[in-house]
Amino acid sequence: METKKLFYGGKWVEGASTRAIINPATGEVISTVAEADASDAEKVIRAARDAFDSHIWSDMSVYERAALLVRTAELIEQNADRINKLEADNSGKLYAHATTEAAGAAALFRYYAGIASIPSGKTFNNRSDLFVMTVRQPIGVCAAIIPWNYPLFTTALSIVPPLVAGNTVVLKPASITPCTAIVLVELMERAGFPAGVINLLTGSGSVIGDLIAESSLVDQIMFTGGTDTGRRVMSRASINIKRLELELGGKSPVILFDDCDKDVAVDNVLMGIYSGQGQLCTAGSRLIVQDGIYDEIVARIAKASDKIKLGYGDDSEAGMCSLISREHMEQVLGYIEKGKKEGARLVSGGYRDTVGDLARGFFVRPTVFADVTNDMTVAQEEIFGPVLVIERFRTLDEAVAIANGTKYGLAGAVYTNDLSKAEQVIRRVRCGVMWVNTYLDAIFDAPMSGLGQSGLGTIGGVVGIESFTEQKQINIKLHPCKVGMFES
Ligand code: NDP
Repeated sequence: METKKLFYGGKWVEGASTRAIINPATGEVISTVAEADASDAEKVIRAARDAFDSHIWSDMSVYERAALLVRTAELIEQNADRINKLEADNSGKLYAHATTEAAGAAALFRYYAGIASIPSGKTFNNRSDLFVMTVRQPIGVCAAIIPWNYPLFTTALSIVPPLVAGNTVVLKPASITPCTAIVLVELMERAGFPAGVINLLTGSGSVIGDLIAESSLVDQIMFTGGTDTGRRVMSRASINIKRLELELGGKSPVILFDDCDKDVAVDNVLMGIYSGQGQLCTAGSRLIVQDGIYDEIVARIAKASDKIKLGYGDDSEAGMCSLISREHMEQVLGYIEKGKKEGARLVSGGYRDTVGDLARGFFVRPTVFADVTNDMTVAQEEIFGPVLVIERFRTLDEAVAIANGTKYGLAGAVYTNDLSKAEQVIRRVRCGVMWVNTYLDAIFDAPMSGLGQSGLGTIGGVVGIESFTEQKQINIKLHPCKVGMFES
């Protein structure tokens, strides 16, 4: 099996050591990948710095940059089947659930190619003698640090906007899911990106993470991952006041009023919590249900959860796959035990599935806790697994208070046939994105920010490009004249 290398300065280079990459559903080794040490990381960062300082990228017209993005999108599409299978095998997804991974990444490349030339900056017509304007310039070297849950799409989302804005990028995938990020960089090389513009740094965050965050050669970090890691990145990055985009964890509330369409709501809730085995930052992991329909909803969700078959690969009957790793599975099972101890009522699942072949992977049954209250750990902490907690409310005020009762503020939803109730909930629930009578539907154009401890900064749309630029004020004296303050 060919060892995948680091990529920097336009060359593929061996790292200090290697790491075997595992399919978490089967335990099989699917690739071997370079594992960078501190010295490798410094070389990769230096290559990105040199490329930025040479202006080879920022001086290129946006049209030329956009053409490279479009060329990459075409290559992704041509390799879609291979990429989708690799993504599924590396990140524990059923093949049927990974059929649009490549298409989604390609669409993102095309979208940003399309808006790359939207003008930015302002002019100020306050004075006839002084021409004042602001321009937006690239920041410099952007390090993109990626989690393991949706590796390809998150990589695309994290590298394309900074590149469009004229920055060079150091890409650090999660150490256990680097496969499709590596393919993406191979395709970008084929598309013709200049040397040093995109650089690949595979390796462990515990070894090279602080170095990236502290490096004086890195100007900005686009970090997606857990809130604790994000906090650490933030503190290390403060050394040289780096620009930060943080996309962190969530514990997103989904509120069901008595008058909602129950069939739609139950269907959407199952999708919102079990997509990706619940390993989704915007997973609808807290279901908040009004008194009148509470018992029925609990029973329907529990019954539907019991019916979900676990499997892997091309198992067409399966609805969910493996968690990402043994370590993560044990963490999820630990939360389930805590839920039981703290008095939540387990109505479905709650254990690891080891039937037959599944024993080779890290399969956890869809799990539902009812009668949860906000003081319980399972209501407060991001479990990042297939665990739904259900809480009860009587009034709209109560629903909002429960929804706002965690440190997170990423996403949320409300299901009701009464738009005036929906409007009050939308306004009062603290989160960066809200859905009404639907869940996880989204478009690239709308910007998104995590509130509370779910993040910092904004991604998506035109604003998402501006996040990777700095604003500069320029004042031009049209008719230069003496100020006369001192004799000269
Ligand atoms: P982690 O925070 O563990 O890791 C994320 C990335 O940070 C990985 O590349 C990791 O490397 C790296 N890292 C680890 N330690 C450091 C460090 N000290 N300095 C810099 N980087 C470091 O998150 P997970 O991979 O476990 O992903 C799950 C989390 O991501 C969840 O909390 C989820 O909510 C969040 N997430 C948020 C999204 C959003 O848009 N808000 C989207 C997707 C996920 P390594 O892999 O080598 O440890």
